[in-house]
Amino acid sequence: MTHTLPLFGVLLCLPACAAPASAIGLDDDSAGAHSPVAGLTVSTGAFVLHGATVLTPTGAVIEDVVVRGGRIVRLGASGPGDGPFLDVTGRFVAPAFIDSHVHLAYLPEGATLADHGIAGAVDMAAPESFLTASHAPLEVLASGPMVTAVHGYPTESWGSNGYGIECADSAAAVAAVDRLVGEGAKLIKLPITGPAGQDQLDDSAVAAAAAEAHARGVLTASHALGDDEAARAAADGIDVLAHTPTGTLSTATVSAWASRTVVTTLVAFGNSATTRENLTALRSAGARVLYGTDFGNAQDAAINAEEVQGMLDAGMTGQAIVDAGTTVPAAFWGFSDLGTLQVGKKASLLILNADPRLDPLTLAQPVAVYIDGRRR
Ligand SMILES: [Zn+2]
Repeated sequence: MTHTLPLFGVLLCLPACAAPASAIGLDDDSAGAHSPVAGLTVSTGAFVLHGATVLTPTGAVIEDVVVRGGRIVRLGASGPGDGPFLDVTGRFVAPAFIDSHVHLAYLPEGATLADHGIAGAVDMAAPESFLTASHAPLEVLASGPMVTAVHGYPTESWGSNGYGIECADSAAAVAAVDRLVGEGAKLIKLPITGPAGQDQLDDSAVAAAAAEAHARGVLTASHALGDDEAARAAADGIDVLAHTPTGTLSTATVSAWASRTVVTTLVAFGNSATTRENLTALRSAGARVLYGTDFGNAQDAAINAEEVQGMLDAGMTGQAIVDAGTTVPAAFWGFSDLGTLQVGKKASLLILNADPRLDPLTLAQPVAVYIDGRRR
């Protein structure tokens, strides 16, 4: 029995009913950011997504995704009282993405990122005030300023306005780490750029700062684009390459990163064949790969199609690309509410026209985005 209600001019039907003959037009103008559907989900806080293929951790076939209070409360058949019913038959539901390299102080477009399917972000350089600011609706894990040398990167270029703390020696670098962690930094960024000894911390200072970060329970990342810089970053105890290096990596450097982590950022540095080959080599060696765009440097406030294409061209499967933007960064960074579609987690999800495991470029064009259960 179908209970189809003409509510605000949109066909809605109550749970436990047959799907309406025609699905709500998610890709119509009527279902845009200010659509009756969006208003309804905000006002009730509860709704049911019915009929889609849902990317769950177990691969189970799910009839309905039941959302209440911004979270997934059931994966299975909906019942009376579960709220309005949104027929998404034939679509795919995937977790919203995590961008593991952004600069939201530099380009404060977090809401636009959320509109296009980003629920979590790792900010890899911002002034200290950023550490205590709210970034809702995005969940943001932040480094604050880079810990760098006197006149070191990026304080003499784009980051002159608070994006780096200049440190004269190891003791100053360790003190900067302590200060940032005390202010809420969840990551310490230590640039390793240019010839050793010139306007950068020496390796003993980087290693001391990294050890202090680890002692405080915080990960470390480095801007290290060449083979020598990436090798030094590994030797100094850095956990994350903030970018896929752009210079050809030696076998030894690839091996040094085999059990560590790299953020893609292919497009931010020109998406060259060399960079993609480095990504392929690092991944083949066992490195963990995280989707990231360097948003702020990059300008596309979305899941970036060119980045996804670059990952494909580097030999990643659709499944691996989905994982690099969802489950893998959620587990690595500790975004415990994001990255998987599970009961109890945030209803931050994408509704897609195609299966992103087969056609990952569909991620860049979601039919609809929900963050914390709210239509964007
Ligand atoms: Zn960056």
